[in-house]
Amino acid sequence: MYCSTCDDERAFEQPPCPDGHGGECPERVCTECGAAVFVGAPPVAPALVAAREAAPPGGAGIIPRQVKRAVA
Ligand SMILES: [Zn+2]
Ligand SMILES: [Zn+2]
Repeated sequence: MYCSTCDDERAFEQPPCPDGHGGECPERVCTECGAAVFVGAPPVAPALVAAREAAPPGGAGIIPRQVKRAVA
């Protein structure tokens, strides 16, 4: 991955996340200079992650009425 601080290709690693993102944490640090970068989508708020994980398995096709109204 390209590091703008090193101005070259560098290996990046995922640092311990203090925000509860776990494996979804988009933060990466350059193993060479320690510069932090974010990859992919911006971090999802832990509250949203909790709500998503609380959804019943196999219930992806069932949209709660509340959500439907909010979208429409
Ligand atoms: Zn994080
Ligand atoms: Zn670097």
